[in-house]
Amino acid sequence: MSVPQVELHLHLDGALRPATIVELAGPLGLDGEAIVEGLAAIGAGRLDAYLAHFDAVLPLLQTAGALSRVAEEAVIDAADQGLGHVEVRICPWQHQKGGLTLERATRAILDGLDAGSRKAGIPAPMVVCLLHGMSQQEAEDLATLAVRLRPEGVVGLDLAGNEGGGFQIEWFRRAFAIAMEGGLRRTVHAGEAGPGLHVRRAILELGAERIGHGTAILEDEEAVALARDRGVLLECCLSSNLHTGAIARLEDHPLRAMMAAGLKVSLNTDNPTLSRTTLAREWELARTHLGLTPEEEDTIRQWAWNARFPAVPRPHRTGPLNEA
Ligand SMILES: [Zn+2]
Repeated sequence: MSVPQVELHLHLDGALRPATIVELAGPLGLDGEAIVEGLAAIGAGRLDAYLAHFDAVLPLLQTAGALSRVAEEAVIDAADQGLGHVEVRICPWQHQKGGLTLERATRAILDGLDAGSRKAGIPAPMVVCLLHGMSQQEAEDLATLAVRLRPEGVVGLDLAGNEGGGFQIEWFRRAFAIAMEGGLRRTVHAGEAGPGLHVRRAILELGAERIGHGTAILEDEEAVALARDRGVLLECCLSSNLHTGAIARLEDHPLRAMMAAGLKVSLNTDNPTLSRTTLAREWELARTHLGLTPEEEDTIRQWAWNARFPAVPRPHRTGPLNEA
């Protein structure tokens, strides 16, 4: 085992502990057990149907206390699974319904990640998600905030949401330029519910260094060449791809074909609560359904480690978890 296992693609709102959902729901007069039961997105079959499952947990995550708590728990859960680094992504824009400002919501998440990181002993930087459906101005404001909070633990910017519902990538060019100029790393969901062309556009127009899913990349030769030449890593999520309908069967996942095409890949959970999975289970699925060999596992693990967005040193805090 050469390098630690890492999780590069984990949505905080898709990674809540069922017990925490129940506890947060009670005081709001919501039926937590029913939310947990309804959360399983297995069988959703389409990205929009899959994403609709998030609607159930959003009401639970509208206070600073709730956001900090779930962020801290996500890091502890990652460390408990033996991971050496976890990147946690979320769109703070969706967490202002209880009166939190964008900055307060983001800081609450960062506080929770910091607390979890200190308790669990692993770096847990934050990736801020922009979402399809945000206005250009909202995206730019969030990117600007993300850059300002870089010293507090924000390492990257992502574009997520319903790629199949209209991929207006041009709306996000300026936001990603702000991120790049401000020293943030970039990953973009593309080629999940959309074509390989989206992967190409994410790399060329948004400066994506990693691609969320990219399941359709092989249908676009130019996208493959670009990703290969620039060393862009694909964040593959097998169970999620099955549940969103990106693939019909696990055996159809192009992970090994991607590797054969000279592309770098990684394995991630995406939304462990929705997909009822763990990172260990995703590796098991890759072994069982894709025939991944131990040598290939080592290679993928090394790629993922090399492609992580390292935590930024926090000048006002000292500890063993800051990476240069
Ligand atoms: Zn995702």
